[in-house]
Amino acid sequence: MEKTTRTMQARKHVALVAHDHYKKELLHWTKENQQKLERHTLYATGTTGHLLSRETGLEIKSLISGPMGGDQQLGAMIAEGKIDMMIFFWDPLNAAPHDPDVKALLRIASVWNIPVATNRATARFLFDSSLIDEEVEIAIPDYESYLAKRT
Ligand code: PGA
Repeated sequence: MEKTTRTMQARKHVALVAHDHYKKELLHWTKENQQKLERHTLYATGTTGHLLSRETGLEIKSLISGPMGGDQQLGAMIAEGKIDMMIFFWDPLNAAPHDPDVKALLRIASVWNIPVATNRATARFLFDSSLIDEEVEIAIPDYESYLAKRT
């Protein structure tokens, strides 16, 4: 696949998602990183977003709840280049009714090469990176050439 680049602004569009057993953990991480998070535009799936904004006062745009379509909504935003980074504490120990959506979300994040943290240690490394507050160029699929080859 041919590549092109996309520029992430210093103020990034960050998506926050946690499955039920990991919501407490994401809340702790969010509180630890609240000052840094305030410098970015935040999105979350429905239940996660309402919980985090209630407990921290952060301004978060809450999408539909994950099992009700929020994962797919977020995936579509990633494909449209509207999300720069995702913190997604998915649950590796319990089955989720919307497992296909979870897989699809992780897959599309890989397709569009956005940084994804699936646990607290990775989230820490991401947010401790100086890149978090800088403009960053990332490689993305060149959709125009993809289309040209197939049509
Ligand atoms: P929720 O969705 O924030 O609405 O709980 C999370 C998810 O399952 O993706």
